Amino acid sequence: MKWEENVRRVVPYTPGEQPQKTGVIKLNTNENPYAPAPGVAKAAAALDAEKFRLYPAFPEKTALAEELAARCHIGTDQIFIGVGSDDVLSMAFMTFFQSGRPILFPDITYSFYDVWADVYQIPYERKALDQDFQIRPADYKKPNGGVIFPNPNAPTGVLMPLEAVEEIVAANRDVVVIVDEAYIDFGGTSALPLIEKYDNLLVVQTFSKSRSMAGMRIGFACGHPALIRYLNDVKYSVNSYTMNTAALELGVEAVRDEAYFEACCQKIMDTRARAEERLLKLGFVFPKSCANFIFASHQTMPAREIFERLQENDIYVRWWDKDRISNYLRITIGTDEQMEILYQALGRIFHLP
Ligand code: PMP
Repeated sequence: MKWEENVRRVVPYTPGEQPQKTGVIKLNTNENPYAPAPGVAKAAAALDAEKFRLYPAFPEKTALAEELAARCHIGTDQIFIGVGSDDVLSMAFMTFFQSGRPILFPDITYSFYDVWADVYQIPYERKALDQDFQIRPADYKKPNGGVIFPNPNAPTGVLMPLEAVEEIVAANRDVVVIVDEAYIDFGGTSALPLIEKYDNLLVVQTFSKSRSMAGMRIGFACGHPALIRYLNDVKYSVNSYTMNTAALELGVEAVRDEAYFEACCQKIMDTRARAEERLLKLGFVFPKSCANFIFASHQTMPAREIFERLQENDIYVRWWDKDRISNYLRITIGTDEQMEILYQALGRIFHLP
């Protein structure tokens, strides 16, 4: 068809599977195995459907923005709220990476970055992680059109110390550096305080992991008010009403309950520590994870085979047929009960007594 010559062609991002059958142990998309804070369920039950008649509020004018600003010790003019951090990151790519020079990100990283770069026609260069899957700050000290990396990195779980993050931000004052902190609450130190010092730093976080709200789609970015203004200008030039009324109302409750949030993250970190021991005993090796998943390779059985055998047992983990990582599985930390089922299945797969 002739019109196909003028189509923007992209290879879309492939998210992990969302199996619809019940009884599945789902350790493939880094969801939180625990319910959101109890206040979220209460607020959900109290939602007034009559209100859905109206367009939603502008996110930056809501109680959610106030609550987040208070928690982050910043002003509401330093926060941008979007439909999950994917929406926030996509807007940030569109807004900040316009120089025509290549943006930089790691070779092993969140596989949405190259997709956004392609769809927005932004050139990019991938910088190889070292053998231990560490980001090398020196790689990010050359002329570029912007920098983005997750901290902790995904899918490796490897955390970069805050000093190294600052080193990269400080070396790139003429471009925007985006730190994607989707997993920062599971043991990392956030770069958030650095936004007061660096007007080129955008820190992005999400409610999808540590706040158990992946289905509600809430993410946010923090940065200098000028960064936030530019983001809003682009966002309001694409779609005025991205966040829905329910998400804006329920999100507040997830932020208010700090005690629940902390206890929930701690439970996952404790389960992760136990998982490290069990996986080691089962013959896996992995870098130290500061996220709610472990990126593990088995010493004898190929990752693909384990992945397939687990799936036959209705246990879903994530595997990529990609350079450097095709012998790794990314295993999301579930409840202790779910993890026990995983270890038992692995024991059977490896024919352990
Ligand atoms: N960044 C990273 C590194 C991720 O792994 C994910 C989850 N797929 C996201 C951002 C996006 O998460 P969400 O849109 O649910 O906030």
